[in-house]
Amino acid sequence: MHRAEAAISLDDSLDAPAAAVSDDFCLDACFLGPYAENDALLEKLIVEFFRDHAYWRRNFHPEDPPAIPTHASTRADYQAFEAKLRHELHRLSAALKRSVPFHSPRYLGHMVSDLLIPGVAAQILTLPYNPNNVSEEAAPVTVDLEVRAGLQLARMLGYPDDTSRDDCAFGHLCSGGTVANYQALRLALALKAFPVALRTAQVPDITLPEDDWQAYNLNPADAVVLLVEWQRWLAQQSPAQRRQWQRRVQAERLEQRGMVDFFAGHRQLSLPRVLAPITAHYSWSKGLKLLGLGRNQLQLLPEREMRLDIDALEEALLQCQRDRQPVLMSVAVLGTTEYGTIDPVDGVVAARQRSGQAGLGHWVHIDGAWGGYLATLFRNPDGSLRSRDEVGRPFQSFPADTVHAAFAALGKTDSVTVDPHKLGYLPYGAGAFICRDGRAMELLREEADYVYHDANADSYMRRFRGLGQFIPEGSKSGATAAAVYISHQVLPLDHAHFGRLQAQTIRSAEHFLGAARRFATAMAEVARVCVPFPPDSNLVCLAINPLGNSDVGVANHFLRKLYQVLRCDPQQPLQVKSYFASTTTLRPDALGAVEMGRIMQMLGIDPTTLGGDGDDRLVILRHTLMNPYLLDEHNDLSYIDGYFRFLGEEIRRLLNSVEMAS
Ligand SMILES: *Cc1c(COP(=O)(O)O)cnc(C)c1O
Repeated sequence: MHRAEAAISLDDSLDAPAAAVSDDFCLDACFLGPYAENDALLEKLIVEFFRDHAYWRRNFHPEDPPAIPTHASTRADYQAFEAKLRHELHRLSAALKRSVPFHSPRYLGHMVSDLLIPGVAAQILTLPYNPNNVSEEAAPVTVDLEVRAGLQLARMLGYPDDTSRDDCAFGHLCSGGTVANYQALRLALALKAFPVALRTAQVPDITLPEDDWQAYNLNPADAVVLLVEWQRWLAQQSPAQRRQWQRRVQAERLEQRGMVDFFAGHRQLSLPRVLAPITAHYSWSKGLKLLGLGRNQLQLLPEREMRLDIDALEEALLQCQRDRQPVLMSVAVLGTTEYGTIDPVDGVVAARQRSGQAGLGHWVHIDGAWGGYLATLFRNPDGSLRSRDEVGRPFQSFPADTVHAAFAALGKTDSVTVDPHKLGYLPYGAGAFICRDGRAMELLREEADYVYHDANADSYMRRFRGLGQFIPEGSKSGATAAAVYISHQVLPLDHAHFGRLQAQTIRSAEHFLGAARRFATAMAEVARVCVPFPPDSNLVCLAINPLGNSDVGVANHFLRKLYQVLRCDPQQPLQVKSYFASTTTLRPDALGAVEMGRIMQMLGIDPTTLGGDGDDRLVILRHTLMNPYLLDEHNDLSYIDGYFRFLGEEIRRLLNSVEMAS
């Protein structure tokens, strides 16, 4: 057990190490399984802990007599009610049979797969207690679990997770990556504008930046130093003085005044910009609208092979400096939603360093909603970083040097979004926001806190137990927190445990890539097939063009037809479907003309045919290789090879069909 965990000693039974044996990982026991192989295990756990819950109810004042009469269930109205309930549940259960078979290794579509038994069991166990993680009062147990889950993720990312440290990280859960990204924007903006408020309020005894511009463009680390100095200074004042100063600074904060009033009062300043790669998830667009910053403040930067172009970022930052255009944050994506590519986090950190020194400080956020958990591959159980060679041992080519450098630099960023409901194999809605220095969170606190928190583990937990003060949501499920925390306890976030699940996805992707290349050769007489760019992780795309065709419209039409076979169709019984994939597009504005040209050439498509109605982009297949049983070693089966066989047959069938000819 590491120090941070030991330091928060709340409930010893929860702190006990997972297991003493050295090899405490067993993939066979992790999931319910494609065939529900582990039904007995899950059922046993659900029944056992449901009974445990029933006894807990009974043992709270057992002297109270049962309120529901024991013979109630024999009455006609009771039975009629039960019959009606059963009827509706049967209908629901029947309807749910049309669900997407996420659990199946035949599903290569979106970012979802089977669920971890530890998470499902913990969630179901917790549900009937119905904890509300908005506050400790409504969730005496699960609020702590949420804060600790945040620390588990912080450690995975290389953030300080020792709660006795002043600058310990803080993380919390939310409904998903979208809301975690909102939280990043909210926090970065609060911290950016805060030093300006200190200046305007003319707080004495603290060395403040010389002018508004400097105050507004501090590096986040320097802004946190000011925040801490202010809190220390405040703590020394008399209670009356303290309240007065607190009010005075509060009155000058951007969150208090609102954008219009704040900027009217600070003519030197303007709305700050968010720099993100063009592959960024649309939650960034939503977030800028929601915060009232405006979509215009989101500047999308070009890519090189679907990875953020650092030169373009540097250039954009220089331009902002020349234009005196403040920057709120730069965003790097750790596993793009469409292509799984990893942005150069190290480059973004270095660019921020340079621009910060030049007086244009800003926040660095990593959107790791998809790829965050891949960080487990890069961590030893003791929390230290693994070398490129150590990480790469079980793989053919993963991780590229650039990918290793990106993960190694995570600890130098300001905040990260991670989705436990994606590569964490947990039920929806579990997203997480983690910030490197938890002290900044004070600025989001809804009610001013007059107590200065000294740094110790106890104070850390006390501070964050009022979770509702800091999070974007209000009431929310404590059962989700239990699921995330317990999964991380059973499968610690290092390469020897949780990392093994991630390793399986990488092996599958490497196998898929090899199979795709063989497939391209095998299909050469009927179609041109290519992987548009080498994958960084576990998402692989496939571009296909019928042989002899050079028109992008025809290629797209063909791919859309092919996708009809590979997509979920609620009008048809599930069993007629063989495999599931998803689609995405390649756009010249995202890829750049050169890169787009290269891919079009590989496919034999004339780039000048781009731009027609709806055909300003190329439609491609997208595969998420997340299911742990894609390579079924037990049965010596490869669903990946099965997929390519199926795809080959379908392509030939389509090419021969009359429909396609028309
Ligand atoms: C999925 C995803 C999101 C959004 O997360 P939700 O959990 O769907 O809200 C944001 N960013 C990236 C990179 C994603 O892959």
